[in-house]
Amino acid sequence: MLEELSEFAYDLLWTWQPRIEALFRTIDPELWKSTRENPVLLLNQLGEEGLQKACEREEVRKAFDGAKAARREYYDRNPRFMDAHAPLAVAYFSLEFGLTECLPIYSGGLGVLAGDHLKATSDLGLPLVAVGLLYKQGFGRQDIDASGRQFEVYSENRGDELPVRKVEGLEVEAPIGARNVKIAVWRAQVGRVPLFLLDTDLEANPLDLRSITDRLYVPEPDRRLRQEIVLGIGGVRALRALGIDSGVFHLNEGHSFLCAIERIRELRASRQMTLEEARLVARAGIVFTTHTPIAAGSDYFDAGLVWDQLGPYLTQVGISFDRFMDLGRQRPGDPRERLCTTYAALRLADQSVGVSRLHGAVSRRLWKDAWKGLPENQVPIGSVTNGVHMPTWVAPEIADLLTRFVGPDWWDLDPADGRWHAVYEIPTAELWAIHGELKGKLLELTLERAEHPHELDLNALTIGFGRRFAPYKRANLLLRDRPRLTRLLRNSRRPVQILFAGKSHPADQPGKEIVAGIVGLAREEPRVVFLKDYDITLARHLVHGADVWLNNPRRFLEASGTSGMKAAANGALNVSILDGWWDEAYRPELGWAIPSGTTLDRQDVDDVAEAEGLYRLLEREVVPAFYDRDEAGVPLRWVEMMKASIRNVVTQFAARRMVIDYFNAAYAPGARRVEQLRLLPDWGG
Ligand SMILES: *Cc1c(COP(=O)(O)O)cnc(C)c1O
Repeated sequence: MLEELSEFAYDLLWTWQPRIEALFRTIDPELWKSTRENPVLLLNQLGEEGLQKACEREEVRKAFDGAKAARREYYDRNPRFMDAHAPLAVAYFSLEFGLTECLPIYSGGLGVLAGDHLKATSDLGLPLVAVGLLYKQGFGRQDIDASGRQFEVYSENRGDELPVRKVEGLEVEAPIGARNVKIAVWRAQVGRVPLFLLDTDLEANPLDLRSITDRLYVPEPDRRLRQEIVLGIGGVRALRALGIDSGVFHLNEGHSFLCAIERIRELRASRQMTLEEARLVARAGIVFTTHTPIAAGSDYFDAGLVWDQLGPYLTQVGISFDRFMDLGRQRPGDPRERLCTTYAALRLADQSVGVSRLHGAVSRRLWKDAWKGLPENQVPIGSVTNGVHMPTWVAPEIADLLTRFVGPDWWDLDPADGRWHAVYEIPTAELWAIHGELKGKLLELTLERAEHPHELDLNALTIGFGRRFAPYKRANLLLRDRPRLTRLLRNSRRPVQILFAGKSHPADQPGKEIVAGIVGLAREEPRVVFLKDYDITLARHLVHGADVWLNNPRRFLEASGTSGMKAAANGALNVSILDGWWDEAYRPELGWAIPSGTTLDRQDVDDVAEAEGLYRLLEREVVPAFYDRDEAGVPLRWVEMMKASIRNVVTQFAARRMVIDYFNAAYAPGARRVEQLRLLPDWGG
């Protein structure tokens, strides 16, 4: 039993199988909480004796059987892609992965998306492995000082306290200038999908190289480039040392563009290819997802820095320094221009996509110079709209309803499956009651995480706003007209309450100002709460319990946005600018579109217009709809919208659909091309 417990703890399947999670909770509810839901720590702290004792309890034995059955069912099931395309192994590279709170190697949306990608891939049985970095310190936890300003608290990740295991006896190297850094490899298990995490914190490394994997998103370009060398070059070498012969590489953001260069080096070394041949073969298997809707969001590296860190390596690859720099320049040949990782990745990849239809169009405009002379509508950047892993984000209570009405495999059904219609058969009062329970749990959590005293009401319209506090997301848009906001909040018959959560990047001063502004509001208004330290656990509670999910970024700057999908899948109604995913999902029966400003380039003017549009929408439509009740107190029309929201979003904006799209449109064709090229006879040389 003890051995199996440890196996359960190291397989992150528990993060989306409530029956496995329930086992850890049952063993010791207090400890489960105090370890921040970390099963490895829980088992360590109880020790053999404590566990033995726990296992004597009837309820633990029952929970154990439940967990075991859940695991068996998961692995015995033959998912639809399992083995169907076995020769294909996709290697997915990302600088961050958000899988669970107790593996803090992510900062926000990009990481959670990568985590969801792996979970859905496991569900589908696709052959994919992932590569990332194991940071010694996670992204800083957020705390708030007396003046309302955010500060960060860093805690140490210790390998033996995380759900990861070291791959014993494996060490690879990557070049840093004329030196080599030694890299250890850890393995996290995401159901069927292995995630390999690279770690330079080894005694054999000099101090400045040991610290490469200290922290996520270091702002200094030289440290960032070193991380990208470890991820891209070290990552490919780690895969080969593990015996994984992938020819298809998915670069989640430009950070991992060097994996394409290492692939070229490897092809040249093993097949005696010319630089041009190797470039074409490598390119056939490279899939790139861009997430940035503004050029400044990309990484840029000075020529001097690139020369220092990569000069000797590029000689080894056989590519001239100028050519390499030109890969990442808007205007190749301009020696003053820095290397932009997005241009480099676009030029190295065969398939490039944005993360929503609208973002695809934005990207074609933004990066068209990568193909000089091509008309914008022919720029080869498509889109695969993001999705979220439903078994992770749908509350167990809603999942039970879907199991009862749609079927136990609701999470694995195609969007067009006829059984989805049964969502509309869920009794309105029952769905409303369950939503009330989830909202109650959310309000309970606010007692723990709120930064200040507050008075929330289970019956009041509850707006959730949870995301990074970057200025373009405008967390403070609703604050533009304080008296008007106050009237909404303090309305005695139809009150509104707002829960805010979100961190700003440690170096983002304007973002920190916005945090301080919201904290200031929350300290004055008892119906506004700022919840500290937005993370996966808090995000789950927020999207489970909110009535309305608010998203008001400047249009075209939200590449996709995924929190709105998570909320909608639980029945929250979105009130959002028509940007990112909402631009393609919006229909009046699912939620509301905040009218966009019309100047497009006068931000101040559009901010005013959009704030006005948002107030009007809340005052005239959202609040009245929420408080429109039948005799039993149920808002009939609202609950119908909740059902439409669940039915549409659970299928179309699922990570399952996203992974299938990547598979059909990019991975499989890429694998076929790589294979065809591999089978061409060598010409020698
Ligand atoms: C989903 C999620 C995000 C991304 O939310 P957006 O709406 O895309 O900004 C960020 N952080 C956490 C913890 C999340 O779960």
